Amino acid sequence: MTPVPIPPSDDRAEPPALPPGWWEAALAATSDAISTVTLSGIVTSWNPGARQLFGYANDEVVGRHLNLLEPERRHSEMDDVLQRVAEGKPVASFDTTRIRKGGEEVDVSISITPVLAEGERVEGAVIIARDISDRKRFEQLLSQEIRARETFEGRLVDLNRQLRQRLQDLETLLEVLPVGIGIAHDQACSEIRLNPALADILRMSSGVVPAERGFPDDDMPFQLMQDGEVLAAGAFPLHAAASTGQPVSDVEIDIVHDDGTTAHLLCFAAPLFDDNEDPRGAVGAFIDVTEKRRAESELRMANTIKDEFLGLVSHELRTPLTIVLGLARFLSREGSTVDAETLRDTHIQLRSDAERLSNVIENMLILSRLDFEATELEPVRVSTIVERAVQHHRARFPYRIVETDVGSSGLAEGNATWVEQVVANLLTNAEKYSPSDAAISVSVRTDAEAIEIVVGDRGQGIAPEDAAMLFEPFYRSQQAKGDMTPGLGLGLTVCKRLTELQNGSVHVRERDAGGSEFIVRIPVLGSSEDA
Ligand code: ADP
Repeated sequence: MTPVPIPPSDDRAEPPALPPGWWEAALAATSDAISTVTLSGIVTSWNPGARQLFGYANDEVVGRHLNLLEPERRHSEMDDVLQRVAEGKPVASFDTTRIRKGGEEVDVSISITPVLAEGERVEGAVIIARDISDRKRFEQLLSQEIRARETFEGRLVDLNRQLRQRLQDLETLLEVLPVGIGIAHDQACSEIRLNPALADILRMSSGVVPAERGFPDDDMPFQLMQDGEVLAAGAFPLHAAASTGQPVSDVEIDIVHDDGTTAHLLCFAAPLFDDNEDPRGAVGAFIDVTEKRRAESELRMANTIKDEFLGLVSHELRTPLTIVLGLARFLSREGSTVDAETLRDTHIQLRSDAERLSNVIENMLILSRLDFEATELEPVRVSTIVERAVQHHRARFPYRIVETDVGSSGLAEGNATWVEQVVANLLTNAEKYSPSDAAISVSVRTDAEAIEIVVGDRGQGIAPEDAAMLFEPFYRSQQAKGDMTPGLGLGLTVCKRLTELQNGSVHVRERDAGGSEFIVRIPVLGSSEDA
């Protein structure tokens, strides 16, 4: 191929005339595919670059329509372009695809220049196609790279967001969890992070507390104990888990606060490990079981009381019943002859035990009834009721001396059955808790406010520690229990309830020469107390 000499450039001078044959030489030398076409798309010339790019020899293309090179989906693309050229409109170069002779697609960039005939008439066009496969491949790789990078960055951002959300979830969980949580980030647990629940239990502020001097250190307002002993240094579950790498579970520890109050903690701890599987701290959960332990102990006590009560009830019911049945069998034995005195004693015994039985049942019924408040009070002559109760008692216990100073009292606003039950209970107690040869005294007085009934005995008296508790349900003094004196601990509770229902009061005091005295006051009719 003949090289084309390039004249030296001179901006000021007219460009030199091109030597003959330069165009053919340029066409032959360029690697661009250059062809000329008619306005109807028929190829009129085809340079070596075109042959190289598309694989067609001149005679396979020249005279044929350009759409030979167009893939199906771009059919008549060039017709449209040539139409614009024919109309004298500018056509910018564009990227497209063409088909090589073997059917393979190739990416090309196409530039079109009109060929003008005389009179500026457009006669055809020069089409320059340049292989841009490498550029396209590069662009594709670049965009894949960019997409991959964007995806990666997007995932990073997403992961970061998820991580922040998880952290926030965890923080919130620690804040709201009603279980104490402690976290130590090093094996020595030199700092412990407390969530609000643990801080509450320890009476400290939540956040990070230093623990390098031990936990608790001397400045902390509590001590840790286990089974009554001060917890050894390093035995706190967090320290134990972090130092040994072993979990700790179900360990119970007492927190003894400086003010003497104690909280019971159920502790669990698990070690945290680093990448080398070495312990790097620990997380602990601490459950305040103080209330649970208290409830358990109350339940145990309630069970003991219940068992004791059931034992007492069955004893209190069975004993008089056994006696009553025994005596009844004795009396009804066939052919038995009983003298008058034995008959009388048996009768007294029968009545006393039947009444004891009836009294126990009556007291239990009174305490189990809730509808007493609705009972109307009425004027009652207390002295008459007290006399009746005393007579009753004498009939039950004919050998007991009951001294009375009753007279005729005023009227109280009360309930006759309740007053009689109160006096009967006090007399029964005086009978039970004083020697049988010591007289019982009963008096009734009326003052401006109340009618006062006093039942006194010369018995064991009331120990000061018992005085405050006697009127509580089921309370019995140690002495009464020790002496095996029969009773359920209900009689005085019934007295208190019935007296208060009549707007009155009952209390106990020591008697001057020994024994005890129970004083019942019921407001006198028309006094200020009966309001
Ligand atoms: P109970 O006599 O059935 O045990 P109460 O409620 O009547 O029940 O009495 C409660 C407790 O008060 C008795 O167990 C006893 O310890 C004490 N108590 C009651 N009355 C007297 C009394 N007159 N003298 C001494 N202790 C008494």
